[in-house]
Amino acid sequence: MIPLCTSEKGVPLARRGRYGLPVDPQTLVKMLAHRPGRLDTIRRLVGGVTATELRRARVDQPTLDALAEGVHDPDSRVRWWCVQLLDHLDDPLALTALTAALGDPVPRVRRNACHALGCLACKPSWDGILPDAATDKLRQLAEADPNAKVRAEADRALGRRRGDAAP
Ligand SMILES: [Zn+2]
Repeated sequence: MIPLCTSEKGVPLARRGRYGLPVDPQTLVKMLAHRPGRLDTIRRLVGGVTATELRRARVDQPTLDALAEGVHDPDSRVRWWCVQLLDHLDDPLALTALTAALGDPVPRVRRNACHALGCLACKPSWDGILPDAATDKLRQLAEADPNAKVRAEADRALGRRRGDAAP
């Protein structure tokens, strides 16, 4: 008999699919494209869905890797959601993936990446230090992105940082 309340082969219970089958993080990331069941998918990936839960979000390495790879997914909905979830993680790999998303072909993905790279509210444990590549790219976007909302969000991210530097 299969125990119902313990993890099997190291797969957390929360990540089990319907009927108890394990679902790998790459598959869950792909599932972010689909609105039905999306909240459940998010919960399985990062352990929560509310702002409060997400501020405490912690993920294991395979999940972090899957989210970081997801910013290069062919489906822009997957890319947008990966940016959205990476916003809650202060890991250097998350920052690298978010920096890559600043070059996304879809404006709303770039805009969300700008938000995440300027956002301390979603990840209070973050020290706020950006990779140099991110600061450079944010400056480029603030000045020259063809989309006004992306320019504004890049400017906001940089402004937050200027604000931090002030006494
Ligand atoms: Zn945020």
